[in-house]
Amino acid sequence: MSYYSISRINTYNSCPQKYKFHYIDRIKPPAGEVSLNSLVGICVHQTLETMYRKYMSTKIWPSLEEIKEEYETIWDQEYSQNIITIHLSDNPEKFKSDGLKILNTYFLQQKEKEVIAQTIAVERSFFVTIDGYKIKAIVDRIDYEEKDTFLIHDYKTTSRFPEVKNLETDRQLPLYQMAVKETYPDVKNISLTWHFLRFNKSVTITKNDRELNEIKEDIVENIKTIELDRNYQPNKTPLCDWCSYKDICPAFKHSFTLKSLENNILDEGYQAVNELAAIQFKMKEHKFAIKKLEEEKKQWEIRATDYAVLKNLTSLEGEDHELTVDVKKEIAFPDSKDPARVYLENFLKENDLWEKASIMYSSKIKKVLIDPTVSKEIQKELMSFSYVKDSTSCRLKRKKE
Ligand code: SF4
Repeated sequence: MSYYSISRINTYNSCPQKYKFHYIDRIKPPAGEVSLNSLVGICVHQTLETMYRKYMSTKIWPSLEEIKEEYETIWDQEYSQNIITIHLSDNPEKFKSDGLKILNTYFLQQKEKEVIAQTIAVERSFFVTIDGYKIKAIVDRIDYEEKDTFLIHDYKTTSRFPEVKNLETDRQLPLYQMAVKETYPDVKNISLTWHFLRFNKSVTITKNDRELNEIKEDIVENIKTIELDRNYQPNKTPLCDWCSYKDICPAFKHSFTLKSLENNILDEGYQAVNELAAIQFKMKEHKFAIKKLEEEKKQWEIRATDYAVLKNLTSLEGEDHELTVDVKKEIAFPDSKDPARVYLENFLKENDLWEKASIMYSSKIKKVLIDPTVSKEIQKELMSFSYVKDSTSCRLKRKKE
């Protein structure tokens, strides 16, 4: 293995199977197969790169006309018929013009600001070595400001503004910081800025050495997990619709196979799933029937017990079975639904008996009543929480011939 990158690690975290396809089996997705959203991101990034390169050499801010020309040239080069269209209503021209709007807004805003920082690099590749693992970072742009301050910029064209907690735990920009620090050891301050271009908003953060070390440890742990994986399980999520490997993915391949068959019933996998579903359905039905029978049984036990108590009987006879009815009185304590339970719990805690009776079953508390290490007064007081309840049980057995 040559090197890792944060996007490689993130691919594993989002789906180990996709990681395997891409980085281990090195299966190339069909040429040009990207979503329209990704295409906007690619074209916007490339235009920004070209414009900033020009600005670095000429120090002349690009006009909107130049930006448009550059962006449209890139779009036409990148656009392919193999674009993944998620929604049938997706209109490529609309996506194209969205990208241009994003660029116009960004450049106008940057022009309005007094540009005091000096751009020193765009799309610059670095390698950082952490714990023996080589990690590649490609930084969108680095500006230099007075007082030995570097500003690292990252452009985002995502259509959702991320939550602050996700930005705080992001590892990409801190990795850029590690890379820049290694390359320019004299630099004193480094700030990290995301430009959320669709929202015309920027977020800037800084990371201290302790935070960077924590991120390093986290990255190493993540890489070790990847290297220990031998299964690369698919992770089915709604994002699979955007995955270029869907038709060869073990989680979806069968449905593609079925679509190509004239008669699905001939497929053994299809048959097995249907049979299992039918069995599961029957089991559910039986479960429901058993529950109903249990309720019915309970009702008949109550009726039998009431009859036995009324007639002072302990055994009832049917046609070929007999029923033994036990009716006993026993000491019980308030259960969790009983308001008196709070007083009982307080009493146990105040008298250091909570541990002994901590599982609040009557049987446990009853043990406290006969525990020789508990004083008679306390046992007496504990007894005052109790009440006597009827306990009944029924046992049905086949009558002897
Ligand atoms: S289709 Fe989904 S589960 Fe399969 S590889 Fe792609 S992301 Fe992973």
